[in-house]
Amino acid sequence: MTLDKRLGQRFLPYGANYLDWSDMTELEEVIGHRVLFRYQTEGESMASRLERRVAERLGAGHALAVHNATEALRLALISTRPRVGDLVYIPAVTFVAVAGAVLSSGLVPVLVDADESLSLDPTLLPADARRVVVAHMEGVVAPVPYGVPYVIEDCAQALGARLPDGRHAGTAGWAGVFSFHHNKVLTSGEGGLLVTGDAGAWATMRRYHDHGSARVPGRYPTWDEDAHFGENMVTSEEVAAIQCQQFRHLDELLAGLERMYAVALDGLPSRTDLALLPRSAGDVKVSLRFRWESRELRDAAVACLTARGIANWTLNKYLLTDHPVLTGRRSLYADGFPWNHAPGNRPLALSRDGFARTRDLLDRTLCVPLSPELPEAEQVLAVKAVRQALEAV
Ligand SMILES: *Cc1c(COP(=O)(O)O)cnc(C)c1O
Repeated sequence: MTLDKRLGQRFLPYGANYLDWSDMTELEEVIGHRVLFRYQTEGESMASRLERRVAERLGAGHALAVHNATEALRLALISTRPRVGDLVYIPAVTFVAVAGAVLSSGLVPVLVDADESLSLDPTLLPADARRVVVAHMEGVVAPVPYGVPYVIEDCAQALGARLPDGRHAGTAGWAGVFSFHHNKVLTSGEGGLLVTGDAGAWATMRRYHDHGSARVPGRYPTWDEDAHFGENMVTSEEVAAIQCQQFRHLDELLAGLERMYAVALDGLPSRTDLALLPRSAGDVKVSLRFRWESRELRDAAVACLTARGIANWTLNKYLLTDHPVLTGRRSLYADGFPWNHAPGNRPLALSRDGFARTRDLLDRTLCVPLSPELPEAEQVLAVKAVRQALEAV
């Protein structure tokens, strides 16, 4: 297959997947046991193995696997024991799942404008903020605010990223969430995982995610005196098996991204109207982020890359100030829950300039994915193809 074909057929915005029958020992093990429910057996389940490995690798206190990162966000939010209608500060530039998780937990999102790197700007947070979600978008490590009791790090697009102090993204806040959706760094189709250093919070999360019960593996669930209601967010053994298999490749994947990023730093055009945005050492280098001098040039570059079959995207879709769910305060509840609890006297968006600078940055930004699984010689060719397309703009 030609390189063009291989790149065109990836359909993988971020990261890679390593699905290969010759590498599925965990899945074979689970099928061999003939038990796909994690709490059916008393020994270590595949889900527990995954949680243990992720916690070890990321230096997290505790981990819990669930169905997806949206559910993990909800679980984290509810486990802070909020009141209905409490405010949650979220990035103005992120996937709408963050707002959906806040709203479906009965809480009210407040959009916080971005800094230069398009991450939530912590200097905009009010002194009384109690719950904040920061998102490490596209592997870009966002600043984690200090002095807020419940910071939830959304690492759906940043598995393996590190903060400047060396800690892994997801372990600096009160909780961190990860996604194994198809479009993320590693994939099991759908999948989510939550980490926290707070043992009490983990126990609460584990109960809520299993019908509010204090289940002993191998037994029927039990509810003690201070049990609360819950939901069923318990993962499956076959999914955990694929996640374990994928997770084995994390270091290989991170190295492949770093290698292609280094190639790109060397091989891109030097135009005065185009800048490759530098990435920090701890970022997961899932993409090259370009900043053009104008929106017109950016749009011309999109056309040029697309015409040549080179995957690319813009980030305008992440601007939640324009999202209909938020602008229209949409809800399925007849009384508009939980928007009907939104305070009338406080703004639900925090920005110094009405998001003007963020809009301008988004309008001029263009992203091109990196392909970690390619051998270096093919990464060089892929970068060359990108360079030629950008020179033609
Ligand atoms: C994909 C994504 C989510 C949701 O993840 P799922 O596992 O698909 O629920 C949340 N936040 C961000 C930033 C994402 O990119």
